Amino acid sequence: MRIILLGAPGSGKGTVAEALRAVTGFPKISTGDLLREAVREKTPLGLVAASQMGKGGLVDDATVLALLRERLARADCRGGYVLDGFPRTLAQADSLDALGAAGPEIVFDLQVSDETVVARLASRRTCPNCEAIYHLVNRPPQAPGVCDVCGTALVQRNDDTAEVIRERLKTYHAKTAPLTARYAAKGGIHRIDGNGSAGTVISEVRRVLDTLLGCPDEAGK
Ligand code: ADP
Repeated sequence: MRIILLGAPGSGKGTVAEALRAVTGFPKISTGDLLREAVREKTPLGLVAASQMGKGGLVDDATVLALLRERLARADCRGGYVLDGFPRTLAQADSLDALGAAGPEIVFDLQVSDETVVARLASRRTCPNCEAIYHLVNRPPQAPGVCDVCGTALVQRNDDTAEVIRERLKTYHAKTAPLTARYAAKGGIHRIDGNGSAGTVISEVRRVLDTLLGCPDEAGK
């Protein structure tokens, strides 16, 4: 099974993907995380990607696809996987189709207003080591400034500044939002109101997933 999460930056894709990883046992594959790892390790690909990411644009399709293919080749993806942040362009969606799917494909679109995005991202803090996500008000770490999972000092991502957030939103509306129509026409898309709390959004995604997978008892919860 392949689960695809579409949505603007800050729509909650990473948080929902983590919840889906926990319930399905499928790995969560975030192209943003893969790219940040390449940037940290200063690989040739990371050096190219860093400038685009810092400006709020997209990294070129060929580079991201190469990283993704490498990750999907690992054994843990055989049964299925959860994609966070890919595809982000129509060309990437075509490439993903060409890769074939490990069984059925389920697509969620997390819908949020631009105001929600700006408010969320400005207060987001992330762990540079394990990529856990926090929010200063809605989801603070237990000890201020420190990751609950691995104890690393939290940081504000360098693309979570007001100016870059505006650029990322522009990029999303121009290049990624058109994907929803494509997937709606292809096989259906599940639209989820992403403006609520993480708990509310995750429950709604799980309800849809349980219904699709035919678990009526779970779906009724
Ligand atoms: P967000 O969804 O909050 O923007 P991500 O961690 O998914 O955060 O992505 C961070 C940055 O990494 C993006 O702004 C973009 O520059 C780059 N990126 C991530 N995924 C892709 C992709 N599929 N194609 C091109 N660039 C990508």
